[in-house]
Amino acid sequence: SPIEIKEFMTNTFAILEVSANRKHIDFQLSSPEELYMEGDEDRLRQIFVNLLSNAIAYTPEGGKVEVDITVTELDMIRISISDTGIGIPEKDLPRIFERFYRVDKARSRGSGGTGLGLSIVKHLVELHKGTITVESKVGQGTTFTLELPQIH
Ligand code: ATP
Ligand code: MG
Repeated sequence: SPIEIKEFMTNTFAILEVSANRKHIDFQLSSPEELYMEGDEDRLRQIFVNLLSNAIAYTPEGGKVEVDITVTELDMIRISISDTGIGIPEKDLPRIFERFYRVDKARSRGSGGTGLGLSIVKHLVELHKGTITVESKVGQGTTFTLELPQIH
């Protein structure tokens, strides 16, 4: 059934609000209008909970996480999730969607992850006929950009 993205993202934010508040991380959402996509609600939830939890986990106290929703020329919904976190070194970027890949065991020790999150995210995005890309600068932050088909 159709899922309205803005409402969906707002509800997904709410799930993670406590952990964001604990680190005084500011959440911001911008979306132009009501946009709909077809998909499985639980799987879509898993995609965005994973990406937003990463953004919170890898962003220091007082940072910012921003979700920006737009429509592309090819009528895809583009969702970018940006943080002001520690960033990902360029040499690691090609591998972060691999299963169990974590950038640096020492730096991510505290967060207790398994390195599975992004491999699941990529798989689920592809199941929805979408794409996911990443841009990052060490010490400045990371942006994940998803494109998913829009329905009218
Ligand atoms: P989990 O399986 O619990 O999600 P994880 O967070 O370590 O564990 P992934 O979500 O797959 O695993 O992420 C892989 C690695 O990519 C992380 O260990 C981290 O090094 C890096 N990473 C992911 N998202 C970000 C981000 N927003 N900012 C900085 N580094 C990130
Ligand atoms: Mg993760």
